[in-house]
Amino acid sequence: MSRVIVITSGKGGVGKTTTTANLGMALAQRGRKVAVVDADFGLRNLDLLLGLENRIVFTAVEVLAGECRLEQALVKDKRQPNLSLLPAAQNRTKDAVNPQQMKKLVNALARVNDYVLIDSPAGIEMGFQNSIVAATEALIVTTPEIAAVRDADRVVGLLEANDIKKQHLIVNRLKPAMVQEDLMMSVKDVQEILAIPLIGVIPDDERVIVSTNRGEPLVLGQKLTLAGLAYENIARRVEGEKVPFLDLTAAHDDLFSRIRRLFRGSSR
Ligand code: ADP
Ligand code: MG
Repeated sequence: MSRVIVITSGKGGVGKTTTTANLGMALAQRGRKVAVVDADFGLRNLDLLLGLENRIVFTAVEVLAGECRLEQALVKDKRQPNLSLLPAAQNRTKDAVNPQQMKKLVNALARVNDYVLIDSPAGIEMGFQNSIVAATEALIVTTPEIAAVRDADRVVGLLEANDIKKQHLIVNRLKPAMVQEDLMMSVKDVQEILAIPLIGVIPDDERVIVSTNRGEPLVLGQKLTLAGLAYENIARRVEGEKVPFLDLTAAHDDLFSRIRRLFRGSSR
């Protein structure tokens, strides 16, 4: 049975698209057939994060208008043939697609894929309804900031009201040093407020931005970054594996103790 998972948040800019791209690629690398769907009509950018923007010919809107077949709109990833993207239209209004139409599209994708991941737009209007209508599971992305967590809490309630009970939390852009100094909410703080099970913590890392700009998901890298590893671990947990959480604080300490050692070495 295929799984349809919406990647959503309350606040915008917290890492939904980054998560969709990396999780989609990581699951595909594990041999699963994955379709990622850009439900952010009007502001699409999942294609950019995957480096597939130049290969888009048709979008979901043309499929629904009967101007092309679904397979024609799907963009296959050359690096990873298990992964395909259903792009959103960029130049049409947000209400070019309604939830019934979206459900039909996603269900068609679910018939031929192991996973359909839906990248949700910001806000809780029509675009949000489109993105959740066919989903049976949700990953809620938040950064450890009060505003983002409060908005995420609202989305948790909305998902429940829409009968999506299988929800997991991803805390993105964590800065362990700031948490240690009590300048940032900890993962535990966030989890206590939202009260849904945690499935991953991604450190704040500027290499995420670089990978975004290059259109190369971090999980493609040969030398995995901590953030890339964190995304891979999320993929494994989605698949039901028990994977211990990375100790991001230890990684941070490690770096500093290494630097300290370096300095000690040079003064001898
Ligand atoms: P959303 O889809 O929720 O609007 P994006 O995935 O587009 O958010 O991310 C917004 C911005 O934050 C992008 O520029 C992205 O590179 C950056 N970003 C996301 N996650 C991280 C991270 N862990 N560390 C650093 N930058 C990040
Ligand atoms: Mg986005």
